[in-house]
Amino acid sequence: MKNYDVLVIGAGPGGSSAARFAAKSGLRTLMIEKRGDIGVPVRCGEGISGELLKEASITPNPNWISAEVEGARIYGPAERKAIHLSSDNAGSEVGFVIERDKFDKELASMAVSEGADVWIRSPAVDTIMEGGRVAGAMVRHNGSVEEVRAKIVIAADGFESEFGRWAGLKSVILARNDIISALEYRMAGVAIDRQFMDFYLGSSAPSGYIWVFPKGEKEANIGIGVPVSRLRSRGDLRERLDSWIQRHPALSAGRAIHIISGGISVSRLPDKIAMPGMLLVGDAARLSDPLTGGGIASACISGKMAAGTSVVASEEGDFSAGSMRRYEENVRERFGGDHHRNWLIKERIAGLSDSAIDSIVESLSDLDPGKPSAETLVNAVRARYPEAMRELDRMM
Ligand SMILES: Cc1cc2nc3c(=O)[nH]c(=O)nc-3n(C[C@H](O)[C@H](O)[C@H](O)COP(=O)(O)OP(=O)(O)OC[C@H]3O[C@@H](n4cnc5c(N)ncnc54)[C@H](O)[C@@H]3O)c2cc1C
Repeated sequence: MKNYDVLVIGAGPGGSSAARFAAKSGLRTLMIEKRGDIGVPVRCGEGISGELLKEASITPNPNWISAEVEGARIYGPAERKAIHLSSDNAGSEVGFVIERDKFDKELASMAVSEGADVWIRSPAVDTIMEGGRVAGAMVRHNGSVEEVRAKIVIAADGFESEFGRWAGLKSVILARNDIISALEYRMAGVAIDRQFMDFYLGSSAPSGYIWVFPKGEKEANIGIGVPVSRLRSRGDLRERLDSWIQRHPALSAGRAIHIISGGISVSRLPDKIAMPGMLLVGDAARLSDPLTGGGIASACISGKMAAGTSVVASEEGDFSAGSMRRYEENVRERFGGDHHRNWLIKERIAGLSDSAIDSIVESLSDLDPGKPSAETLVNAVRARYPEAMRELDRMM
């Protein structure tokens, strides 16, 4: 049996951030990761905002940055014009395109530098419950199952998170339109504008989008995300993405050197993301942005917050529901408003026709990229394309 102050499950950005800040505050911390190689395989578009990196106390490092962009361009299906947004205004994914494998490893290495213990190839296989609270996990490690006890367990086990459910939290996503199924190629030999991250809306990716994020000089991550409820068949995503790439000669001249697929939650926040002795962070807490699917930054920030709550709870020797609720309140205060608003927008724009999307995009294409307040956007659309606004109003 092993004893720690904090046990972190999962060494993604959320888990490593939690372990880093818990260990930095002097808590005896163990982070376990089921995979044998932290950050691998990469399942991510790898876009992240510089502002949010700062909030997560992560200094951009050329070692894991592939591109820094000036902003985002959002195209309608006709691709005649684009809405331009500066990086500061373009949400959680826009600013840097990173190398997730190196990024995740650096965060884990920061946790180790602060004194955290790390076990790789060591999945949690069950909870240890004691008097209604989480008191640790059973962990497969070096060929046997070990009992690891901890005052607080931080579950950072990602989109497929099971630990919270094992402990009794209802973190399973039920609605099929709240789960995005995504497929992405890393493509070499493409001609791209390295200054922008591009998003393509419309029926090529119904209720979702296609993205082109620059990587190296002639490389890009090109992906598609569509709600599970809109998939026509098993091969649907690949057919849609391949046919879209074929229509873009500057991209179809390239070749895929890596393919990934994965799920992203775009649901509302669950009712509870904390219980006595346990906190959920990142994708396990369903914190990825419902509009964009971006979740690296919220994972890092919530990991840091979970470490903060662990420190206070340890000082007070209180791991009860009341003590854990602080984390829940902090997360809701930081993310809850935007998260709920973006979920509503996601639900409402899902049914817009291609022509309405084109009208909206075209009416916003000449706005100042630095000032796209909600009011400016709505007024611009209403003035120039009242018929598109009527369609939007009807849905609202
Ligand atoms: C195709 C795709 C593209 C995306 N593009 C972007 C993007 O461009 N920008 C962005 O911000 N977000 C993007 N995301 C979302 C982003 O990848 C996630 O939000 C982010 O990785 C969440 O971090 P996390 O630490 O919560 O979870 P994860 O990064 O998923 O880490 C969870 C870790 O827990 C481990 N684990 C799971 N179960 C156990 C267990 N029982 N025991 C031990 N370890 C366990 C896993 O192996 C994993 O290492 C994308 C997602 C997908 C699928």
